[in-house]
Amino acid sequence: MAATDKQDFIPPGEAGPGPLLSVEGLTTVFELPSGRLTAVDGVDLAVAGGDIVAVVGESGCGKTMLSLSVLGLVPPPGRVASGRAVFAGRDLLALSERERRAARGAKVSMIFQEPMTALNPVLPVGEQVAEPVRVHRRASKREALAAAEAMLAKVGLPDPARVLSRYPHELSGGQRQRVMIAMALILSPQLLIADEPTTALDVTVQRQILDLVEGLSRDAGTAVVLVTHNLGVVAQVADAVAVMYAGRLVEDAPVALFFDGPAHPYGQGLLASLPRLADRGRRLAAIPGMVPNLSRLPSGCHFHPRCPRAFGPCAGEVPPLFSLAGGRRVRCWLYA
Ligand code: SF4
Repeated sequence: MAATDKQDFIPPGEAGPGPLLSVEGLTTVFELPSGRLTAVDGVDLAVAGGDIVAVVGESGCGKTMLSLSVLGLVPPPGRVASGRAVFAGRDLLALSERERRAARGAKVSMIFQEPMTALNPVLPVGEQVAEPVRVHRRASKREALAAAEAMLAKVGLPDPARVLSRYPHELSGGQRQRVMIAMALILSPQLLIADEPTTALDVTVQRQILDLVEGLSRDAGTAVVLVTHNLGVVAQVADAVAVMYAGRLVEDAPVALFFDGPAHPYGQGLLASLPRLADRGRRLAAIPGMVPNLSRLPSGCHFHPRCPRAFGPCAGEVPPLFSLAGGRRVRCWLYA
């Protein structure tokens, strides 16, 4: 019996009406000699089975740290200080290391930004893609390699039969990225966390990968957390958008509502900096200033030094998340 069969994850389709992944008050800190940095600050996020939630924000806003935290992969000296990440009825952060490793193989997958860190340099690619099938489905070596070849074809690698015997260093960066995506998707996980999965790929392959992820969420009911800085990708595939700034969730909304007009001034700035055909030749509106350093976070609303609408309470008090119509939440005093 595979290790994951012994766990109490609720099987797909039996999880009831609630979200498949429920992140509650997740806080991740780094204890440094200079003091404590809070990289993820009390984030709540819910993802239903079959939904794609895009986590957006500039580099350094805590998107990647949030996804690593959900999977218990925060690098030292960081640690999850509080909160839960309940997936299919179990808190992923309360699993033993062995349970977590087993879950990551079969039910939960992550696509990382850097494929070389996820691939074993001394094993042929085919064995690496086939391994989860052998371990978790108890397939023969031949069956597993056939499944690997089919998956490599699905992620758009030409001549997948030949790629099976290649080593990671013999492939280009874009090919390695696709191998890693094949590994992550081959068991149709129930939860997929994809961190900038298509950044290194050209537009055609990017579309192919996004189609695969969409198909997985639609057909297998997978809950997908898609971390990206690319709002064009969000508009194509996401059901909902979660905007992060300086470690905090500042807005989340169904995707149509967000693109109709973000409520939070930071989301408004992000959308205004998205190039559109009509904007050709015109200067894009960039958000003034920089994402703050975690060791010198502004007081109150962390966005206040860059916010064109900052007023009375913004510098002094942390705004809570206000619930608005249509299932939108926004962390901004304008909505008090
Ligand atoms: Fe701007 Fe104030 Fe809203 Fe922060 S709370 S986004 S500073 S208006």
